[in-house]
This record gives sequence, C-alpha cells and structure tokens, in this order.
Amino acid sequence: MYLKIFRNLRNIWSKHTLKTDPATHIASYLQNIVNNLPHFLVWKDVNSVFLGCNKMFADSIGLKSPRDIVGMTDYDCPWTVEQRESYLADEREIIRTGKAKLNYEETQTQPDGSIKTMLVNKVPMYDEKRKICGILIIFSDITERKHLEENLKKAQEDAERANKAKLEFIRNISHDIRTPLAGIQQIFHAFSQGKIAEEAIPELSFSGWESSAKLMELFNQIIEISKKEYFDFEDEIVKFDLHKLLQELEKTYTVVAKHKGLQLNIEYAEATPRYLLGQHLRLHRILMNLLGNALKFTKKGNVTLHVEKAKEKNNEVILRFSVTDTGIGIAKENLSRIFELFSRLNPSFENQYPGSGLGLHVVKDYINKIQGEIYVDSKEGAGSNFTCIIPFKRPLLDNDHDVVKTEYAQNFNTINPPQEKTSNIPSTTNQVTDSKYQVLLVEDDPIAQTMGILYLKDKNYKIDLAASGKEALELTSKTPYDLIYMDLGLGDGIDGIETTRRIRTDKQNLSQKAFITALTAHGNGDKEIVQKCIDAGMQTILSKPLSPEKVLEIQSLLEKSGNIQKIQLVIDFDLWRSRIGTAVIMLDTLVHTIGQEFGIYKNTIKEIYEAHDLSRLKATTHKLKGALSYSGFPRLEKAIIAIEAAAKQNNTAEVDKWYPETMDALNEAQIAYENWAKDHPLS
Ligand code: ADP
Repeated sequence: MYLKIFRNLRNIWSKHTLKTDPATHIASYLQNIVNNLPHFLVWKDVNSVFLGCNKMFADSIGLKSPRDIVGMTDYDCPWTVEQRESYLADEREIIRTGKAKLNYEETQTQPDGSIKTMLVNKVPMYDEKRKICGILIIFSDITERKHLEENLKKAQEDAERANKAKLEFIRNISHDIRTPLAGIQQIFHAFSQGKIAEEAIPELSFSGWESSAKLMELFNQIIEISKKEYFDFEDEIVKFDLHKLLQELEKTYTVVAKHKGLQLNIEYAEATPRYLLGQHLRLHRILMNLLGNALKFTKKGNVTLHVEKAKEKNNEVILRFSVTDTGIGIAKENLSRIFELFSRLNPSFENQYPGSGLGLHVVKDYINKIQGEIYVDSKEGAGSNFTCIIPFKRPLLDNDHDVVKTEYAQNFNTINPPQEKTSNIPSTTNQVTDSKYQVLLVEDDPIAQTMGILYLKDKNYKIDLAASGKEALELTSKTPYDLIYMDLGLGDGIDGIETTRRIRTDKQNLSQKAFITALTAHGNGDKEIVQKCIDAGMQTILSKPLSPEKVLEIQSLLEKSGNIQKIQLVIDFDLWRSRIGTAVIMLDTLVHTIGQEFGIYKNTIKEIYEAHDLSRLKATTHKLKGALSYSGFPRLEKAIIAIEAAAKQNNTAEVDKWYPETMDALNEAQIAYENWAKDHPLS
C-alpha cells in the first residue's frame, strides 16, 4: 500500500512540485493530502537536507509550520548522535543504490527526551530524467504497540518460568517427602520384624526423629505459603522481648548445628534494646528461615546471627540482623533469583540440600510487610551474609510489663530428638565371608544406608558401602562387584547416573560388568529418569525404600542376568499394593494363590498353542488376564493381554509373535515367585 502511495506522490511531485511554481493548485492539493495522512511524512534532497514535511512531522519536532523545515538537516532535530548517524547512513545507501528500505524499526528521540519506536519506509525519488533527486520518508509511531508486545512477551515468559518452577517444585517436593517418609517406613518395618539389635536402637531412633523433623519443616513451609496466599498471616504489633525470641532460636538451632558439627553464635550488641513494639512472629519466622538456610548450606565452620541497633530517632529504633555462614555461597549471577517463589539453585535429587524454594520468598514477603529491607552478599565457596534492616517502635516502659507471652517454639518444629546420634551406620566389617555375591550399596542417606545394609546382610552378601559417587568409583576400581545398588540423588557433584556411566565406560574399572540397579525416590513412573538410567547402563530401577522383597527380586534378576536391559521388576509389589488397596494385608496369600498357578498355565498354554486351538487359547489367557489385573507382574500381564487379543481376532500371526514372549514371561514370573516363596512360606 505504501509503495502505491509513494509512487503516486512521486509522480505528482515530479510533475508539479519540483517545477518552479510551488504555489500551483496541484501543490496545495498535494499538501492537503500530505497533511492529512495519518503518518509522518518527510522528503529530503540527495544530501539529506529537508525539502518538506507534513504537519504531523512538523508538530512532532516542535515547528510552527511544515514550511519551516525547508533547508533544515538532521543536525537541527532532537535525535541522538547515534540515531542521526544511522538515519544518514541509510539514506546515503538508498541514494547510492536506488533501493528502497521498507518496513523496519528505528528509535527516535523526541524534543521532550522520550524515545519512540517508529516503523519506517524510505524510498528514492526520481526527477524527469529518471535520476535520483531525493528521498521520501514515511513512518508511523509504533511505540505503544511495541510496548504491548513486550509486556505480552514478558508476561508469557513469566508464566512459563512460573510454570517450570512449579513443576520443579513438585518434583523436588515429592522427592523431599518420599525420602524421609521411606526412612521412617523402613525403620518401623525393621522394628516390627524384630530385626533391630539393641545397640542400633538409639541411632535408629535419632534417624527416625530426624526424618520426621524434615517432614515437619516442609509441612510448615507449605502451610506458610498457603497462609500467605489465601489467608494472609495475622501478626499484630505487640510488645515483645527480643532476648527471649533470640534464646528460643538458639535453642532450636543448637541441636541442628551440633549434629552437623557447626558452631552457632547468636550475638547481641550491648546497646540493642530488649523490649520492642512490632510484629514479632514475622521477625521470628524471618530469622528462622535465614538461620535454617545458613545451617543447611554449610558443611564446615560456623553460622552467626548478629543483632545490633542501626539507628534510633524519637521512639523509633532500627535494628540490623545479620546472618553469616561459611557455607557453599551463591554465585553472583544467581543472587537475583533466590527470592523468587519455588526458586532453588540445587534441585534436591541432585544433591544433599533438600528444600522447597519457598523460604526466602516468604522472608522477602514478610520483610516488605514490616517495611524492612533485606540485602544479600555472598561468594561462591566462601559463604553468605543476609542482612535485614527492620524498624520497630520503643515501648513507653522498658520492662517486661505487658510483654506478649509466646512459645515461639510451639508453632514450629522444635521437638528435641530422643537421643543424640552416637554411632555410625553398621560397619562393613561385619561381612559374611562365604557369601555368593559381592554387593556395593551406593547411598548417602544415613537411614537408607542402615536399612539397606540390614536387608542385604540378610541375604549373606559381602557388602561394601559408598556414601558418594566418588567413593563408589574408587571402590569399583578395586573390586569386581556382582551387584550395585545405586542411589540416584548423591551429593558431591557426581550423581548415581553419572557414576554408573563412568563405571560402564571405564575399561579399567573392575565392576564394568556389574549388575546395576537404580534406587530412586522419584518412583519409577518418571519416564525421563528411567530413560537416563537405561542410557547410563543400568539394568533395573527400584523405587525407594528398599525392601526384602525387592532385594530378592533383584537377586533373581541377577541370577538370570543374561537377560539384562529389563527395566521393570518381575514382581512389582508397588503396583500390586496400589491395585489391591485395603486388601494389602492379604498380599502374601494373593502372591501364593497366583504364583502357584504359573506352572499349570505354562503347560496348558503350551499344549493349546501346539494344538492350534485358538478358542481355548482365548478362554485360558482371558482367565489369567483377569487374575493378573489385580497383581503386579507387568511384563507377564502385557504379554497375556496381547496374546489374548490376538486369539480373540483369530490372528494366528500375532499369536505366533506373542507366544515366545508369553512363555518367557511366565517362566520368569514362576522363578520370581518361587524365589520369593522360599522366604515367605505358606502359613
Ligand atoms: P530452600 O527451601 O530451597 O532452601 P529458599 O527460598 O530458602 O528455599 O532458598 C532458595 C535457594 O537459595 C536455595 O535453594 C539455595 O540454593 C539458595 N540459598 C539460600 N540461602 C543460602 C545460603 N545461606 N547459602 C547458600 N545458598 C543459599
């Protein structure tokens, strides 16, 4: 459309306007059109000197009349040097080549200093001899549109980021819930089986407490965030005792610090007022989150909370709370992200720092609510410092009269552990030397270590333990293990998948051919993780917690380990339990009921298949399909469903295709059952 306008204007222009008399009837007619165009219009000579413009352009650069533009140059316009240079360079190029430059964006500074975005078209003008005699420029203001587009793009990006963060949150949180819960479950299971030695009781009780404390912390944080979003947290301004609040924090965190071998200092500068008026619950929560993080992200050294008066005026006092640690620190480029909701720099399944990414978001929100400020200063590898500046009022009486009585600890997770941890996990020196298999358990969680060793010892394996990927690589380079149980979420930067990959690809590694089974707290429904495990060279995936059934199951797979690359367990007890729900108590009976039939089914199906009797094959597989739908034999179930469907359709080719798989799966299920039955005799 523009080109058409340009062409018309150019024709009229060259026919009339460039002739000597600009005051002709046509010229005024043309000026009229030009002035009423809803675009900026400018024309220049070959040296980019303005020859004319429409009213809209004249108005935009503050000229009284379009006539005033004649003879001006871009140097007389409010453009910046860069803008001017770019406009002139474009125009020189158009004059030189005769090629129009169409539909492009450029910025233009206005007389008031604001910057607009223009959509620009520049075309060369020709005289009667077809020689370039100037340039016609037409442009429109798209600032508003651009702005809207940018806002839209930003909103879309924000939404995508929030969505990603939420998904990551769910993934992390399911890991963080499942891990301690699995630990508790294992402990109680072991207690109920009477398998705990007297000396192991204190340690297991401590571990149980620790796991429940982790769950409680997570629960508190989730409640906090939902309160924040749906109910908002009521915290009235009251008179409170800062000493007491700090003492309670000290009490809460000393246990954690001591357990981790860290030094916790709570320092209180002398001039800091003890009694204050303010929102003490929010203050307590802010400090709890900062101290909790400092302890969580520090392995060695100390954590210090220092409190001092920053300023005092009339009855207002401003305090500075500074939490410093000697922990892992935060990279500079990540500092701006840490206050975002669900933002975590280290996903829980990749390392040893569980969390939800909620804490600092809550802190920031509370700080805003109490008109405070928070600053973070951190160096990767050296530690972090979070400083909060918070205003309070001084009460009229500087004593404990009318001080609010709050048991801060009661709101949160401060139950003391039953007993301090005294010993380490069972040592690997208790190996049973005549064992058939050499097994390595790679696990960094103390409870999972203890329980894993307990179950594996039951099977008379020779067991070694590695608490990290690095340790696993060292051990496997020296010992040819038959079987490796590999936790996926390991600390120290090498996770279970990477450890496996290194074992498999290192020709010097003595365990290169070991049977490796993944242990995951994600459950084995996460396809992405399953694929990663297969790619790294694992044979099976077990969802945590480890159980005697699973250990047995893995042993039977190991014994037939020519048959590798199988990702599902022959007997999937998790699947089984999820299918039978409340009848779970009868699980053993059910396993026997179906397990004892496998031999019979094997013979019957073989006989019918060889007799080519598809209708009997359909009836028999249909019956078995029904029984399997309540059980946990995924491979067998898949084969039976397929062969039954083929028999139903009289599709001999498909029946032939599925028959070997059906027999193989039946055979495998029978062996798995018989292995299991050795330890679970019919009562
Ligand atoms: P989380 O529950 O993951 O700890 P937060 O919102 O409290 O969530 O913290 C967000 C992220 O900021 C953490 O996952 C961690 O990566 C980083 N972070 C917070 N505090 C510290 C600290 N003291 N040292 C190192 N990193 C920290």
